Amino acid sequence: MFSNKDISHFANLETPFYYYDLNLLQDTLNTCAAAAKLYNFHVHYAMKANFNAKVLQSIKAVGFGADCVSGGEVSKAIETGFDKGQIVFAGVGKSDKEINLALDQNIFCFNVESVQELEVINELAAKKGKKASVAIRINPNVDAHTHHNITTGLDENKFGVNSWDLPQCAEMLRASANLEFVGIHFHIGSQITNLDVYKNLCVRVNEFAIWFEERGFAVKVLNVGGGLGIDYHNPDQQIPDFANYFKIFSDFLDIKPGQEVHFELGRALVGQSASLISRVLYVKNGKKKNFVILDAGMTELMRPALYQAYHKIENLTRGNEATLKYDIVGPICESTDCFGKEVEQPESFRGDLYAIRSAGAYGEVMASKYNLRDEIRSVYSEEA
Ligand SMILES: *Cc1c(COP(=O)(O)O)cnc(C)c1O
Repeated sequence: MFSNKDISHFANLETPFYYYDLNLLQDTLNTCAAAAKLYNFHVHYAMKANFNAKVLQSIKAVGFGADCVSGGEVSKAIETGFDKGQIVFAGVGKSDKEINLALDQNIFCFNVESVQELEVINELAAKKGKKASVAIRINPNVDAHTHHNITTGLDENKFGVNSWDLPQCAEMLRASANLEFVGIHFHIGSQITNLDVYKNLCVRVNEFAIWFEERGFAVKVLNVGGGLGIDYHNPDQQIPDFANYFKIFSDFLDIKPGQEVHFELGRALVGQSASLISRVLYVKNGKKKNFVILDAGMTELMRPALYQAYHKIENLTRGNEATLKYDIVGPICESTDCFGKEVEQPESFRGDLYAIRSAGAYGEVMASKYNLRDEIRSVYSEEA
């Protein structure tokens, strides 16, 4: 929800830009940190959701670690000042260069996604005379009940080691002098709103932990990934239910004495803290369709074009006058450059300000130069 002061501030600014509510971000982080502390759970922030410098500073300050999916993210986490002992590195396609960089930096752990990757990390670590800590990312074949483009834990997905490859994995771990096994890792998808999914995950985690222990491996870390969703339909209901989320893992995981439980949250920490603010350039009233054409497009926020994601759209300039149905589109030369179809909005005019809500996760980070667009700007609540 924007105050009149916010809106008159926006009116003086060049659009489009991401508007960050840093107070809300802080409240969200504090709530999550307190809920995790209750069970001594460790949270790593999934940097790919948003690596805006101010956002990263706030997250580092609350004491979370960093979950990285590229060498670039590992470097950025270290530059930002994240504790190296709290950096994990996942990804199905880590290059030799990225592995070497992470080895040089002595990060906490590689989340390894294939038997072949174990072999490569062992070789590269041997060349450096080091021991690499590894967790095995297992594909648990648990349905996340989310959009099919953002599910990652089913047999048909490219992520993780499938259960039938685990014996080979165990052999490779035993044979590799430069690998140290620290635990097991899972990440089954994103924007998960049905929390029962996590109960199913816990059952699988318990089974896999026993599998490794029966073969003589000490499982120090259970890393259950992230994926907790946010309510895109109610952007003002802003802080996810972290207490209930963590409680499920406390209730359903068999946590052994001394065992650590790690989480990798992205969207839930940052999603509600930003909106994309844009101006209406043109209104086109067609025979079958009315179009609001904004100065922001898929180059600034790609989620609707990429996976038909829903974002709440609000006209900030008009009140609740007579409404019309509009397709809210951007200026990019692609038909998928559309933020919402047949969206009910007050009658809109050139110059009106629009907010596309819940854009803090997978928004700014996916901005592209397509159509040689200007770099997207950011505005922060403390500057308002
Ligand atoms: C993207 C990702 C996450 C975070 O997912 P969210 O849905 O943003 O919480 C966690 N772990 C891994 C390995 C990821 O790739």
